[in-house]
Amino acid sequence: MIKLKPSVEKLNAYFVNDVPCKVKLDANEGSNYLLKEGLHIDNLQANIYPDSDCKVLREKLSKYYNCKTENILVGNGSSELINMVINAYCEKKDKVVSFIPTFSMYQTYCDLCGAEYVGVKCNEDFSQNIDNLIEKILEVNPKIVLLCNPNNPTGYVTKKDEIIKLLNNVNNSLIIIDEAYADFLGDSVIDLINKYDNLVVMRTLSKAFGLAGLRVGAMIGNEELIKYIWKVKVPYNVNMLSQIAAIKALDNINLVNSYIGEVNRLREELSRNLKKIKFTVYDSGSNFVFVESPVDNLFEKLMNCGILIRKFNFNGKIYYRITVGTEEENEILINEIRKLL
Ligand code: PMP
Repeated sequence: MIKLKPSVEKLNAYFVNDVPCKVKLDANEGSNYLLKEGLHIDNLQANIYPDSDCKVLREKLSKYYNCKTENILVGNGSSELINMVINAYCEKKDKVVSFIPTFSMYQTYCDLCGAEYVGVKCNEDFSQNIDNLIEKILEVNPKIVLLCNPNNPTGYVTKKDEIIKLLNNVNNSLIIIDEAYADFLGDSVIDLINKYDNLVVMRTLSKAFGLAGLRVGAMIGNEELIKYIWKVKVPYNVNMLSQIAAIKALDNINLVNSYIGEVNRLREELSRNLKKIKFTVYDSGSNFVFVESPVDNLFEKLMNCGILIRKFNFNGKIYYRITVGTEEENEILINEIRKLL
């Protein structure tokens, strides 16, 4: 077999646990509430390419994100956009700084283009010290800084004034704030894109909008930066069906806020119930909780009864990330755990 390039050869393919399950709480997906009735499309013009610039979709998104259409570039999930930006800015050996633990794909995207991923450790309680991050940035002068807020998988929320401190102290790196879960937080730094020309915000319809299957993400920055980055966008990167479905879904944007409120309520309820049965639950600003379990091998035991969650091993210690499900799903989860205690 012809060998892949060395930085890629060592990678493992992204593992998706697709065992059949009755309750799926492993991937932080939302409910199917925006396209409940499915999608009926007449006269699909599949013979022509989709709108490469996603003009109508960007217009709809700009209303929700409270910015201009020109501030948005749409991607095939925010995954495509994060990879695209890292690739566009980083040559081999360029540095990318981020907290660890965080979204594991950042490291993979760096490996793909040979960039060096420099991780700044979170505190023991998974809180993140922005001064430590700034110190490392000033030391290694990275091309890119990636901050996931709220953080995946810990749920930790970096306060806006800390992000502003980061932006005020770092001018020579592109600062990407990955706000995949920020809809649940109700706070964002999108309003700062015109103040800081090195700021890019990543958003997605995969979580709070419950549209992970459509693969629609958005990159938001000041007009000049977005125009500049446009040159590395693959043509027709968002397919026609996804554009049509997302536009339709966004016509019901009023439902999004009530869904978010409901998930936040259910997260607090789930946290309380897990604490009652002796779990350690970390504060989360997201649609998942990050926990330590009093039950050994919780992941395997829950999988055996049809419930899928995520397991992490940090410094030899096991943690779990559990997506907030529906009221019923959360109840099934708690009942099954009770039986395991
Ligand atoms: N960023 C974070 C922090 C995520 O957790 C995810 C999905 N798990 C993504 C980006 C990518 O999301 P998508 O490609 O579905 O937009």
